[in-house]
Amino acid sequence: MSASMNNTKNQGVEMSAKLKHQVQQGSAAGGGNVVPLSKCKAEGCSKKSEKMDFCNEHYDWFKFGLITKEGKKPTDFDKKFMAYKKHKAA
Ligand SMILES: [Zn+2]
Repeated sequence: MSASMNNTKNQGVEMSAKLKHQVQQGSAAGGGNVVPLSKCKAEGCSKKSEKMDFCNEHYDWFKFGLITKEGKKPTDFDKKFMAYKKHKAA
């Protein structure tokens, strides 16, 4: 962060590039296996699928039992979601 003192012209560019990075978080993380272009199955989600036809977030849901393989919510979704949030906060 100290090297930009004598290079003020580039500072603005640097800043906006950083902001951009924050917005599209986790996009390039953990690649490796080829995934067919498809959308996340979860209801109301329009993100690109990353694993098992879910986006990263909904794959987490799936692992936690918040959502079925078909992208549907279980009847006790609310209860599970509360537990999930607690789990995430811990
Ligand atoms: Zn999703």
